[in-house]
Order: sequence, then structure tokens, then C-alpha cells
Amino acid sequence: MAPATEDLSDFQKEIFERISKNEVCELKTLLAQRKIKMDFVDENGMSPLQHACYKGNKEIVQLLLDQGADVNACQHEHAYTALHFAALSGNAELCHLLMSHGARLTATNSVGRTAAQMAAFVGNHNCVATINNFIPKADIDYYIKPQGLQTEPMLPPHLADYFHKFIMHVNVNPVRVCVNLQRLPALLENSAKIQKVLESMRYKEMTRGAEINEVMAFKYHYLSCVVAEVLKCQKRQEAMKAEKGEKGNEESEEKKSDTVELLIRRFLKCSKNDSLPEYQEAFLRESVREFPFRESTIFRQMVATLASTDPPSAVSVISAAINGQRGFFDGAQTCVTCGEDKATKKCSKCKAVQYCDRECQRLHWFMHKKACARLGQSPANNGKLTDVDKEQISNAVGSRLQNLAVK
Ligand SMILES: [Zn+2]
Ligand SMILES: [Zn+2]
Repeated sequence: MAPATEDLSDFQKEIFERISKNEVCELKTLLAQRKIKMDFVDENGMSPLQHACYKGNKEIVQLLLDQGADVNACQHEHAYTALHFAALSGNAELCHLLMSHGARLTATNSVGRTAAQMAAFVGNHNCVATINNFIPKADIDYYIKPQGLQTEPMLPPHLADYFHKFIMHVNVNPVRVCVNLQRLPALLENSAKIQKVLESMRYKEMTRGAEINEVMAFKYHYLSCVVAEVLKCQKRQEAMKAEKGEKGNEESEEKKSDTVELLIRRFLKCSKNDSLPEYQEAFLRESVREFPFRESTIFRQMVATLASTDPPSAVSVISAAINGQRGFFDGAQTCVTCGEDKATKKCSKCKAVQYCDRECQRLHWFMHKKACARLGQSPANNGKLTDVDKEQISNAVGSRLQNLAVK
């Protein structure tokens, strides 16, 4: 049924007008005057909320949500939802806001595209990653209560928030996943339970009928593989300790975090310069192969890419599968340890590699120390600032200022 614009009252028309001009204060005043349902649409079937999302205006969107606007209501002529418009606007925080208000991630427009796919199409990489990594809190709540015949929940309730945070991280580099785990000892101590929950979540994503989410299913699968690897290392170390005999409890407490560090080193080790880290590459390829849903598009695409001649690294294939392809990404500011973007700290000796922080530099030093002296001597890095250096320093200062502004 075509929405009839002539039915719009002057009041409703004024609301659209304020939104299209991004006039937050005026809109606030207007909405305070009269209680009105936010379910009306313009001649294209667009609601006030959809207009605000199209504008990428988070403040107005919040205002409309507070007025009870339905985040999933959709009468748009091409079936674009509020999330589609937010994704096209390029405002990732706005996407997050809509999703935490229950926006459906899998809704497709009239050409069968989800919001994340539309964001990828126009190159809004942050929106793609934010949408693909969003997990409703309700998905976790299920696991903190005993289900069916269970006598205890699969996830101890006090871990819910840590776990929620852990699975929403955008950077899926295995080193980063390990560092994240290392920083949450409560999760680390329960790695067996965490792994079971991840496996169950993977299964759930693939059995949602029309709402199947292959990307999320694969992410849970992948995280469960990393946690399983940590678990394997923990068990191996316990077995070795048992062989050597007990040597006091204080020492074994410390060993727990060392287990993750050993695994991180294994992930970083390359036997040759400028080659891929062999163990990491093999582990990641194996993780892809073990994805149980072999008919899925995501599985077939990854396998095909990894089997091509001169394939990209497995970590880049997995990142792209989960977070979307990124165009024009030169990796100039990527942390060599964990793959994080906008790594602003350089090795002070050679200035040839970048890290997120001291911790990433420390973890990488056993590999980097051999290369550091050699890189430091190359003519391009003779201690003077090059133009590239200057640009990177100004970027670093810029992003630090931005961080200050956010906090
Ligand atoms: Zn890093
Ligand atoms: Zn160096």
C-alpha cells in the first residue's frame, strides 16, 4: 500500500523539516509540545527515524528512539531499514546505537542486501565491522541461566560482561585475541566453559531459519578455535608440570599467564625474514577447514581464496571474512604484533616497525631484535626524519588528541 503524504499534518511535516536540517534543539522543543506517535512516513515511505539515520545524526536518532520510534518499522519503497540508512551515512556509533535498541542485522532491502553489505558497497568500513561484530546482550543472557536439564548455567553469570566484550572485539588477529584473554584472567580460568559456549553460539547462528548469520557463526567458531588452542597449551603445561612433580603453588599461578604468552610467541615466530609466521598460518588455515558448515558461502569463499596461487595470509582472509573487505588499505600504521590499526608507537631504534603499545613491542621483541639492527642501518632510516615519519608523527599526535576529545 502506497503511503499517502497528503495525510501528513503540518506538525508531522515540520518534524521532517527539522530533521532534514539537523536542527536538534528546534526538534526537541517541537516534540515537547505534543505527544505524537513516530510511525508516520513521507511520500517515499521513510519515517522520521529513517531520515535522521540517513543524515547520520546520532543525537536526533536518540531523541526519536526516546519518543518510542520503532527501530525496525519499515515502509520504505525499497525496504531500506533505519540501520541501512545509518550504515550508508558512515556513522558507526549510530549503527551501534540502533543495534543496541534491537535493530535487526539481517533485514534486507529490495535488492536483497543487508545494512552491512550496503556499508561495504559504499566503503564505510567502520560501519561494516561494527555491524558484523555486534552481539545483542540477550544472546549471552541465555547462557547464564541453566537451560533444560542443566543443573548449572554454561557461563558463570559473573563472566557475562567480560565475555560479551571479548566476543565483540573487531580485531580478530590471533595474537590480539590472546592478549584480550590474557587481560581477563577470569575468562582464562574458565576457558573450557568459554569454548563450549562459543561452540553453542556458532550452532545457534546457523539454525536461525531465515535469520542465519554465517559471519557471526564463523567468528564464534574462530574464537572457539583460539580458546581451544589456549586450552591445549594449558593442558600440555599441566601435564609437563605433573611429570616434573609439584613445585609449589605460587609458581603455578604465574605459569597460567605464561601459557598464553608462549602461544603468542608461537603465533609470531617466522623462521625466515619477510615470510609468514608458519605456526600462525597453519593454525588459522586449520581453523577455517574445521568450520562445520561446509555449504556456507563464507566457508567456500575462504577456502577458495586460500587455495589460490599466491594466496594472501590466512589472517587477512579471516579478517576480511568477518569484518568485510577494505579498499585502499596500505597497512602503514598496522601493529606488527597484533594487526591493530592506528598503531602509533615506533621501535625507537630502527623506526621501521609500529606497535599499539609497549606490551605489543615487548611480545614482538624476540622476533624483532635480529631485524632491528639491520633495518636501522638501511639508508632510508638513518635517524633523520623522513617525510613519511613526519606524516606519521602528525597522525599519531592527531589521533591522541582525538582520544582526549572522546574521553
Ligand atoms: Zn598491537
Ligand atoms: Zn627496531
